[in-house]
Amino acid sequence: MRVALVNPPWSFDGSIYFGCREPHLPLEFGYAKALIERAGSEAEIIDAQLLSLTPQELRERVAAVRPDLIVVTTAPSYLFWRCAPPELRVPQETVALLRPLGARMVAVGPHASTTPRAALAKLDVDAAVMGECEEVLARLTTDDWTAVQSLVRRDRDGTVHLQGGLAEVDFASLPALSWPDAWVRRHHHHHHRFDVPPKGPGAEVEASRGCPYRCSFCAKETFRDRYRRRPVPVMMEEIDRLIAQGVEYLYFIDEIFLPNEELLAALVDRPVRFGIQTRIDLWKPPMIELLGRAGCVSIEAGVESLTPEGRNALDKNCRMDTDTLTRRLILAKQHVAFVQANLIASGTDTPEMVRAWRDELRSHGVWANDPVPLFRYPGSPDYRKAWGLPDDLAWERAVDDYLANHTSFSDIQEERPLPLQALERPPRRAVA
Ligand code: SF4
Repeated sequence: MRVALVNPPWSFDGSIYFGCREPHLPLEFGYAKALIERAGSEAEIIDAQLLSLTPQELRERVAAVRPDLIVVTTAPSYLFWRCAPPELRVPQETVALLRPLGARMVAVGPHASTTPRAALAKLDVDAAVMGECEEVLARLTTDDWTAVQSLVRRDRDGTVHLQGGLAEVDFASLPALSWPDAWVRRHHHHHHRFDVPPKGPGAEVEASRGCPYRCSFCAKETFRDRYRRRPVPVMMEEIDRLIAQGVEYLYFIDEIFLPNEELLAALVDRPVRFGIQTRIDLWKPPMIELLGRAGCVSIEAGVESLTPEGRNALDKNCRMDTDTLTRRLILAKQHVAFVQANLIASGTDTPEMVRAWRDELRSHGVWANDPVPLFRYPGSPDYRKAWGLPDDLAWERAVDDYLANHTSFSDIQEERPLPLQALERPPRRAVA
């Protein structure tokens, strides 16, 4: 079987999407390709975003694979599964563009994981994977689809079948990835790096997946949930390959980069810098020092609220008081070139408190953002608390609520975001 793994040509017009708009390596497709090939089939990744393909060029590239199966993702790389564009406009356009090639079509991503029936209907695909997709995609190349778990699929007569629960990959067994030289050369973006302008290429890597915490706003209940690590030798094989390809900066897409002495010690002597997202309350001073020595030049740390009440309301489960958090951020800045503390508009922090705290941090070189409004992502505890388990209209409901309750948007969002009904094509078939 020949499989085309397609990252669409993303655009975000009218979206509330607040993630980074630059291309990033499609790690999920990298793993999936390796597992599909291990299972005896051929797979090719066609990344329309990284390669800046027009729709016409995308169709030609996919057609050249002569695929039996086309897989389309609904988020621009694993890095953004937890904060994907709510609308399916671009994946819908991509499926419609590729459908005439005659292959079976499968969707992967946060939408199929959280609202599988709605995603199947809106995208008009033959099946969609629920949860982490790599191993399920490999199984689709070997097994009868009626026996594949973590799949929603439609029969020829239109009947929809929900098979099994959410997939969780055997993360520790995923192989070291390798990317084509030409892709690495094109990857100019250094994600969340602000200390110096990029000279050589950047890349994304993944040392761990999931998180042991359950913050109320975090959309990870349907994928990337349980915390797991990859073996350090596998990580270093992948990283050394990237360094040999000229990569000078890595971004760890891990939800939460927890202190990992073995990994940091292995990075100390490597000629590469890197960025992470983490919680500063989990880093003791000696490990922060090691983090800096290992080459970390960017930390994004979720503090979320300046009061214990605010952090408790967001279920941060943070044992540190605000003063200690502040001092720990300032200490981190002594070892790491760029440190950012993130706040969420939790309702407990007054503008004066926020201003004073930001000023204090800034006087020590630490950046803190203005509190960002909360989007109740389907798949997050906050969504459940507001409306119960996500149903087929979950994404519409969350966007409508967000638009109704916020009149100003961050500078990385569209000025006038639109409701989903205005962005998506209506489903060709009813949600079953
Ligand atoms: S610590 Fe970060 S990754 Fe973990 S649940 Fe909270 S927001 Fe999500």
